[in-house]
Amino acid sequence: MIKIEHLKAQFGEQIILKDINMQVSEGEVVVIIGPSGSGKSTFLRCFNFLVRPTEGNVTIDDFTIDVKTASKKDIHVLRQKTAMVFQNYNLLKNKTAIQNIMEPMITVQKKSKEEAEKIAIDLLKKVTLLEKRDSYPKEMSGGQQQRIGIARAMAVNANVILFDEPTSSLDPELVGEVLAVIKQLAAETKKTMLIVTHEMKFAKEVADKMIFLENGRIAEMGTPKEIFENCTNERIRNFVNKVA
Ligand code: ADP
Ligand code: MG
Repeated sequence: MIKIEHLKAQFGEQIILKDINMQVSEGEVVVIIGPSGSGKSTFLRCFNFLVRPTEGNVTIDDFTIDVKTASKKDIHVLRQKTAMVFQNYNLLKNKTAIQNIMEPMITVQKKSKEEAEKIAIDLLKKVTLLEKRDSYPKEMSGGQQQRIGIARAMAVNANVILFDEPTSSLDPELVGEVLAVIKQLAAETKKTMLIVTHEMKFAKEVADKMIFLENGRIAEMGTPKEIFENCTNERIRNFVNKVA
């Protein structure tokens, strides 16, 4: 379970996130949408303290931290509960697919090489890239690299996986395979996921709950049906139908 209370993020004078409150149950998939610059990336980054929020409480499972008073150790504990899938994959160029997946298990989780390899092979199968296990990032398509990025995020057994526009740097013909992998993993693993995306058809299919962010605030929260069909806010209706 995840709970965000009165989360605020400020850079200098600029307030990027204003009093964000939300609760996510275990296994829920939450899709975050909203215009560019509305604070979607900042919101995800606040979870793992890539961006340090200025106020509020973050709870993952039974671990709560007050962001104002959090110690380095608190942040470290919270970070271990999250894993991020980046827009640009962020794979290590000089490591193969399987080494990329194994890396955080060995360096962060201190797993043995054998154990990490076993888990990595299982995940390579899940993202249907076992045949690429010894390929380097430059030998893979963008879609394949991102599927490795997803496998790497799944590998550390985090409580929540954060996806920041996972398909926005892909050529259109490669988007589908990545979305299909995310959808399948969501269904199979029942992992809690927070996904920022502009892919509305995917959002409708995968989301248990959707959040529309606007100017650093949650302007609307609801099921896909509520957002796509019953939303009384015209701006939001236009937004989801324009990009759909
Ligand atoms: P989105 O992901 O919805 O496009 P972002 O979270 O990236 O939005 O950005 C929200 C706002 O925060 C933007 O106005 C952006 O310019 C600003 N911003 C993002 N990161 C920083 C930063 N490190 N320092 C200052 N301003 C930032
Ligand atoms: Mg962004």
